Amino acid sequence: MRKERILLCLAHMSGKEQDFIKEAFDQNWVVPLGPNVNGFEKDLENFVNEQSLVTKQVVALSAGTAAVHLALIACGVGAGDEVIVQSFTFCASSHPITYLGATPVFVDSEEESWNMDPELLEVAIKDRIAKTGKKPKAIIPVALYGMPYQVDRIMEITNRYEIPVIEDAAEGLGSRYNGRVLGTFGKYGVLSFNGNKMITTSGGGALICSNAEDKNKVLWYATQARESYPYYQHEAIGYNYRMSNICAGIGRGQMTVINDHIAHHKHVQALYEELLKDVPGVTMHGNPWPESDSNFWLCTATLDPNLRIKGQENAYKQIVTGAVGGAAGVIHAASKATTDCQPNDNVEALRVCLDKANIEARPLWKPMHKQPVYKNAPAYVNGVSEGLFKVGICLPSGPYVTDDDVRYIVDTIKAAIHLLSVSPVL
Ligand SMILES: *Cc1c(COP(=O)(O)O)cnc(C)c1O
Repeated sequence: MRKERILLCLAHMSGKEQDFIKEAFDQNWVVPLGPNVNGFEKDLENFVNEQSLVTKQVVALSAGTAAVHLALIACGVGAGDEVIVQSFTFCASSHPITYLGATPVFVDSEEESWNMDPELLEVAIKDRIAKTGKKPKAIIPVALYGMPYQVDRIMEITNRYEIPVIEDAAEGLGSRYNGRVLGTFGKYGVLSFNGNKMITTSGGGALICSNAEDKNKVLWYATQARESYPYYQHEAIGYNYRMSNICAGIGRGQMTVINDHIAHHKHVQALYEELLKDVPGVTMHGNPWPESDSNFWLCTATLDPNLRIKGQENAYKQIVTGAVGGAAGVIHAASKATTDCQPNDNVEALRVCLDKANIEARPLWKPMHKQPVYKNAPAYVNGVSEGLFKVGICLPSGPYVTDDDVRYIVDTIKAAIHLLSVSPVL
């Protein structure tokens, strides 16, 4: 048993962060603008524009959620509009659509990348036009756990219908498709630097913009939309979404280790793949195509429904209480231990086995079209994301996860396996 808990993805500092922060204090730049903000944006621009494949501009913001929100505004999304968004995602991809009084239209995933199914996307576009008489205002594909979506096909379809793409690359910082960084294919690209993402600014995000004009518009909305008068003159509604110069200092320090982080996540994934390849019933989710180059923000696996895990007869017998009052701000205690759409008992049992061995694991994101809060939103589904949600699990992958940790995690998984039934359960 480990004394120190192995977490999914724990922030890892380079040591340079404090120098940038100290500089901000020394120069009295303790505000939501300043040299660190500008420097961090430059670093991010250099990173996303690598090999001069593109010439994007980046705006640093207070959160990835804010980046989604401002990208939608910049695409002209307003009350009564529709926005197509990948259903299999974290809620920050879709919630900002509702902030604007617009409606999310959920599109299911394909089995290979687990991301937006291009065929279903086109079905949804056509059907929304037929039903509402107007085009969706934007399309949001998501790089789930860092995995690239089918960029070529999604861009071909969205270009044909002339609908702007907001890439949600919050989990996909440094993932590449055909060698090009995710977030640089669409009109806008969303990044997140929350505490558990590829790099952190404690909390923060950024929006990758296509040109200076778009960047200026986003910057203006991020700083309360002020007009150039000596006094505060407002002709539009803005937001207080700019990144603080202190957080940006953390970001500059993090940019010195971003490539190490990405390499480490890929290394951990490769080790899981190697150690689990002969374990029947457990399948790692790897890059499906030669074009895909995932950062493997979180390493994910699926469990055969016939795999029997120790203790699975007790799965979901108790309401989870650990999360309530915890750091993640969960204050609503669940009234029942189960919902009508949840991971299989063996997945929950494996999570519990790992937890007892001091290893953090968690289910995949629950698809948005299965969330009660979105029960009235239109959805174009094929069963893929719901099916994956029932069989999938996220395993630790961050900079602190050592080779020995991966071996320990894999050994714990093997020890948790009761047996794989020979004949499928009917
Ligand atoms: C983390 C995340 C976001 C938003 O990021 P925050 O910085 O936490 O606001 C958006 N989309 C996805 C898919 C994410 O995982």
